[in-house]
Parts: sequence; C-alpha cells; structure tokens
Amino acid sequence: MSFKTTFEQYDWDTLEKEIYAVTTAEVAQILQKEKIGLEDFKALISPAAKPFLEQMAQRSNQLTKKRFGNTMQMYIPMYLSNECQNICTYCGFSMTNKIPRKTLTDAEILKEVSKIKSLGYDHILLVTGEANKTVGVSYIKHAIELIKNNFSNISMEVQPLDQEEYETLVAAGLYAVLVYQETYHEATYKVHHPKGKKSNFQYRLDTPDRLGKAGIHKIGIGALFGLEDWRVDSFYTALHLRYLQKTYWKTKYSISFPRLRPFEGDVAPKVEMTDSDLVQLICAYRLLDEDVELSMSTRESEKFRDHIIHLGITSISAESKTNPGGYSVEPQSLEQFEISDERSTAEIKAMIQSQGYEVVFKDWDKAYS
Ligand code: SF4
Repeated sequence: MSFKTTFEQYDWDTLEKEIYAVTTAEVAQILQKEKIGLEDFKALISPAAKPFLEQMAQRSNQLTKKRFGNTMQMYIPMYLSNECQNICTYCGFSMTNKIPRKTLTDAEILKEVSKIKSLGYDHILLVTGEANKTVGVSYIKHAIELIKNNFSNISMEVQPLDQEEYETLVAAGLYAVLVYQETYHEATYKVHHPKGKKSNFQYRLDTPDRLGKAGIHKIGIGALFGLEDWRVDSFYTALHLRYLQKTYWKTKYSISFPRLRPFEGDVAPKVEMTDSDLVQLICAYRLLDEDVELSMSTRESEKFRDHIIHLGITSISAESKTNPGGYSVEPQSLEQFEISDERSTAEIKAMIQSQGYEVVFKDWDKAYS
C-alpha cells in the first residue's frame, strides 16, 4: 500500500479547473467554518481567496500561537557533497554542470560542525546530491555517527532510499527526512528530471511511505514552486500530508515552500508565485492543519522573511551555505542555488525576538532511545 492509490484518484486538469472556478462567496462561506477540510483548502488557495488574505493571516497567527506558542525553531543546513548522478534542470549540482565536485572528509565535516556549533545551532540538516558510490547509505550513516554527539536533532535531505536503509539510519540517530516531490505533475516531472535515479517519479512519490514504514520521527514534504502551477501542486501536497497523517500517525510532519532560485545554468519559472501567493499558501496550510510544522529557508528575501514570522511559520534557517564546506572549508565554491537572505544568525535572532518570539535552538532532550 502507498500514496499511489490515493494519488491516482485525482486528475491534475480537473483539480486546476475546480480551484480556478471557486467564487469569493464560496471562500467567505468556508472561512465561517471552524474546521477546514481538503475540499475547503482548494478554495483557500484559489485566486478567489485573495480578498480574504488579512482574515486568513489573522486566523493563521492565532492557530499557530495556540499550538506552538511564541516560538521559532532555528536550524541550519550542512552540505556534505555536491556530487550528483542526476540531471535536474533547475539545480546547480546537476550532473552535466561543469563544476568542481567535492565530498567532505571526516576532518572537514568536523571543521564545519565546529563553526556551526559556534553559531549556536543544535538542529542540523545534512544535504547531499545523489551519488550512490560516494554519498550512499554508508557515508551518510558514518556522518551521522560522527556528528551525533554535537546535535540533539539531525535531519537529512538526500537521495530517496529503501525502507531498510532508512531503518539503518534511524537506528544510527537520524530524526527527520525531507523529501520534496518537486512537482506532482508527472509529465512536467519527467521534463525536469530526464536522467538518473530521480527520473523515477513513482519511486520518489512513494518515499514518504517507506519513511513512515521505517518509523522515522518526522517527514518533510513539499513541491518546488515554479515548475508547475503552485496551486495544484499545493493541493497534492496537502492530499499527501493527509494520507500520511492517517497512515503513519505516530510521525510528525513539516512542509516547506521552496521557490525556484537562480543558479549556474538557470531555469526560468514556468509559473510565477508572488510573495502574496506564498503568504496565502502558508496561511491556507495552517488553517487546514494546526499541528504541521511550516518551514522557511534563506531562499526568501530579508523583507519577506521579516514579514512572514507571525503568519504561521514555525521553523526558520539562517546564515545558510548551500555548498559543501561553505562555513569553514571552501567558502568560495559553487552553491546549489543562491540564497537571498544573507544576514547572520545573530541578526535573524534579533529580528525574530524584536517581533516578540522566543528563538529556540534546542527544544528537547532524548529521555530514552
Ligand atoms: S536537485 Fe538534488 S538530485 Fe537534482 S541535481 Fe540537484 S543535487 Fe542532484
């Protein structure tokens, strides 16, 4: 059993028509409801919901404060490798891009860890390209074991793996896995992932299922906005979330909102997602689900991140480097994509605190394993 069965019950074009046919009267009626369902979510991400943005933002703020308090979780990514055997049209690490490739050694990983710890971080996100020979399961397991005494929470964003491989990594100390579908439009997915293991749409779609079965603590999902219509992709993400929550109910979930960013080679977004669209989407997710963590990266601008803090986001990164060794070893090497908010951790912390939020670097200790 997997999400495939649920996914196949929906048709992209029909969903698109339904979302764009919603009227403002329907949105107004839905916003009277106490409980927002998946069908209602369609209306909240529709163009018809734009006049209700302020109302949605206020409700999102209240729900987030009720569930998460005045807190903002901080995390930082650490890129371990830029080697990759896939072609993804939108990524600086894509196999055909002629860039120097690098995979961090133990000594380099520890040097990066030392710099990251000096910034105060306790939650780390390990990132690699998809290169089985160099950064396969044994490399990742070794990296987790090498750094686990330095962090109380280790997440990763690497190639999709088999269930047994996830079980091995969970046993080694892995807490969460982020795996974005990029787009739920299968034909468009094929266009942007023409070669390599990632070209297998179905294997990627089933990855959160394998993670749920492996007993991971948290799964992060999402779509890369710009490849397809963000509204339809977001409906599928919400559908995926609901399916996972029902099927793997012991697991926590998070959603991220990456928009296409410039990189070496560049791909122009097919469908633009404006700042106002992104605010609408964040609020719609919060109205749909009080518990889901909503995460914001440094892809977004200073101004946008400053304004989004109180609208539903629960975790945020700062001072991110998207190149292996970027914090201490090779600060000048090519990044996966250009970050937009380049402020220091201290500056982001001060910005969050100035808005009345407590900055959380560490939120719990393991009482048992
Ligand atoms: S998105 Fe990931 S899999 Fe695709 S080229 Fe970049 S690093 Fe490789």
